[in-house]
Amino acid sequence: MTQQDVRVRIAPSPTGAPHVGTAYIGLFNLAFARAHGGKFVIRIEDTDRARSSQRSEDAILRSLRWIGLEWDEGPDVGGPHGPYRQSERLHIYHEHVDQLIAEGAAYRCVCTPERLDAMRQQQREAKQPVRYDGHCRDASAAEIEAAIAQGLPAVVRMKVPPDGVTVVHDAFRDPITIENSQIDDQILLKSDGYPTYHLAAVVDDHLMGISHVIRAEEWISSTPKHLMLYEAFGWTPPVMMHMPLLRNTDKSKISKRKNPVSLEYYERQGYLPEALLNFLGLMGWSMPDEREIFTLDEMTEAFTFDRLSLGGPVFDLQKLDWIN
Ligand code: GLU
Ligand code: ZN
Repeated sequence: MTQQDVRVRIAPSPTGAPHVGTAYIGLFNLAFARAHGGKFVIRIEDTDRARSSQRSEDAILRSLRWIGLEWDEGPDVGGPHGPYRQSERLHIYHEHVDQLIAEGAAYRCVCTPERLDAMRQQQREAKQPVRYDGHCRDASAAEIEAAIAQGLPAVVRMKVPPDGVTVVHDAFRDPITIENSQIDDQILLKSDGYPTYHLAAVVDDHLMGISHVIRAEEWISSTPKHLMLYEAFGWTPPVMMHMPLLRNTDKSKISKRKNPVSLEYYERQGYLPEALLNFLGLMGWSMPDEREIFTLDEMTEAFTFDRLSLGGPVFDLQKLDWIN
């Protein structure tokens, strides 16, 4: 791989206050990009129309700047692969979904919410995994058109191959093998015409030339679905790297009940952005000389993922107070 090939991204959903987890993942993406002379991209994943807001997007970008994570391409910076807001890329997702339908890798589904509820209820009672039963898989185009003409909401689902396996290769883990029969016919396009996270993330990571997907461990369960989409499109997936989740001192997943998680809180309390960034860098990573106080430049200069520890990084505010 040539140095210029490294392109990484964070993809925050603007659905709330700027979260320390976003800065943590952002820091590791940025350090990796800088260490390889690559690009760090921000993409706004505003596909949940009810929960996304411009206010949240503004706050997230502002807080990332406050803490010192500057991006090379993104919603308010631009770049050759934009627009970087998914709500402004709907035509791209539509074209890709149409391609999958034409190739028989996806299909339209007109099941009503009532039918889906009853199906799930039955599956739960029969102690079967709750999963779409494929009802519309083989419906003819005419049947689907007729249902839509009657006003039924249509979504597009992926036609998951019933046989075979999908293998997740994660740079930090042994390969994970999943039977395709365990994977749901995931929704790709919602009835409001917006893509789901799965479709939008895969299409964008590919079109934006993302070489390494560095994200939190909680997304690893989505990865088999993403790999199936790469396969359906005939694309090579990026290198996948799922980072350990930040933990409260009692080792549970970081939560606002046990720790302030909004970056705005730390700014308001007068913490130095450099200290908070140093603290996040220390979370599961160490300098070659084990020194605990370092700047962003020092971290990116020394950065390799070899020094990441995969045990759950503990968010211990006493340590932050010590650095600060
Ligand atoms: N929109 C997702 C989030 O809120 C992005 C996950 C990913 O990096 O793929 O974190
Ligand atoms: Zn259906």
